[in-house]
Amino acid sequence: MELTATELWEKVQEVVRTSVPEHSFNTWIASASAVATTSDELILEAQNPFHVEWLEDKFGPILDSAAEHVLGRPIKISVRAAAPSTPDPIPSVELPTPRSTDQPGSASGAPAQTRPKGPAPSSPPLNQRYTFDRFVVGGNNQLASAACRAVADTPARMYNPLFLYGGVGLGKTHLMHAIGNQLLAGDPDSRIAYISSEEFTNELVASIREGRMAQFRRRYRDMDLLLVDDVHFLEGKESTQEEFFHTFNALYDAQRQIVLTSDRPPKEMARLEERLVSRFEWGLVVDLRPPDFETRMAILRKKADDDGLSMDDEIIEFIASSCTSSVRELEGAVIKLLAYSSLTHQEITIDLARTALRGVIGRSDNQPPVSPETIRDVVARRWRVRPEALASKRRTKDLTVPRQTAMYLIKDMLDMSLVRIGGMFGGRDHSTVIHSIRKVQEQMEEDADFRREVDGARRELAERLSQGF
Ligand code: ADP
Ligand code: MG
Repeated sequence: MELTATELWEKVQEVVRTSVPEHSFNTWIASASAVATTSDELILEAQNPFHVEWLEDKFGPILDSAAEHVLGRPIKISVRAAAPSTPDPIPSVELPTPRSTDQPGSASGAPAQTRPKGPAPSSPPLNQRYTFDRFVVGGNNQLASAACRAVADTPARMYNPLFLYGGVGLGKTHLMHAIGNQLLAGDPDSRIAYISSEEFTNELVASIREGRMAQFRRRYRDMDLLLVDDVHFLEGKESTQEEFFHTFNALYDAQRQIVLTSDRPPKEMARLEERLVSRFEWGLVVDLRPPDFETRMAILRKKADDDGLSMDDEIIEFIASSCTSSVRELEGAVIKLLAYSSLTHQEITIDLARTALRGVIGRSDNQPPVSPETIRDVVARRWRVRPEALASKRRTKDLTVPRQTAMYLIKDMLDMSLVRIGGMFGGRDHSTVIHSIRKVQEQMEEDADFRREVDGARRELAERLSQGF
């Protein structure tokens, strides 16, 4: 059966439709079109680079599985951005009718002092789902989220610039868009530019080449809020830094809010001009850290609620304890699980979750390979006791050592919270867990045989990674 690109894409969409919330489906999937297909590739075109990223990031696995389902063999889905319809590559250029046309006088008269000239962009490329409401606050992001809320409430007053930094998938872009979305909700005419520093660089280069520098400068210097994502890309790009420096100063002097994100703090950006580093530190620099177990649980619960999914606590806990490095990873796991359940027509159960997430879990380097239950089971088997006995309250001697060892390995390999660990072993409190972990550490120092046993268990667990569960 040979399908055209469009036919194949239609069939893939039919499959995917059942497992993606309708709104997301319409926004991200239905809006893409098929361009071409070969025996092993389907090429799609999305509206803009932002859509491309979303499709690849959020729906990559689900689209791949759906296409495989349709064709009966794996096929690569590539997404590219549609060429812009105007020669001007700068985003947010569709300008609405300026308000001033409704207000006779202001159009011909001098513009208000507080407002720069020119109309506001109609729809800055902000992701509407990235709001404060949808952002789960935990110990890892509390300060960052409070700072962003403060900036959204009173832009350019308290923290200017606001500099957010942290690893991939921890919510920097989400928070940045949330500021923009809140500002827009309060005043739809707000001039907001969201741009990655890579795009800034590309546009700058194009503007220089095409002699449009004046336009380029005006665009960014007219903003009420400038959101620049991933400024670490500016490193080593001298002329972009120079231009950015002037844009920064112009906005700062005009008391406009600037928000920046990066994967590292300003001081650690080695190939960034000193004057930019110091500008970046003028306001507030705050970091986002990976979510702890409780926050991961809360995020998963919220995602499930928001998307109307029913996942019981056991499954949420399984995902939360398996995916530890970022929120993006958590989301990927949920999407994969949904796709799997819908494609195989099975209800979401813990067993299905284990099977579906086999490839997701343990994929990235800084991610733990195994679940806490697996660690408990492996230790139980090696010490020849039953896993349920380890999980019980019983205090017999033959259980104490393996139980303490399992607690130690879970803490060491997964860095799970002490309270959670206690919960897995007969509801012991966190001080008992600390005591157990210390005991194991002491004994490993004193007793080489015991140390070898513990290391053996650890090796076995590490090997499971390469083979899946
Ligand atoms: P970053 O820009 O730091 O790489 P993103 O902002 O793109 O990360 O976040 C990755 C994904 O995780 C996004 O879909 C975002 O909505 C989600 N996310 C991140 N942090 C949270 C949080 N605290 N609550 C809810 N969703 C979050
Ligand atoms: Mg980001």
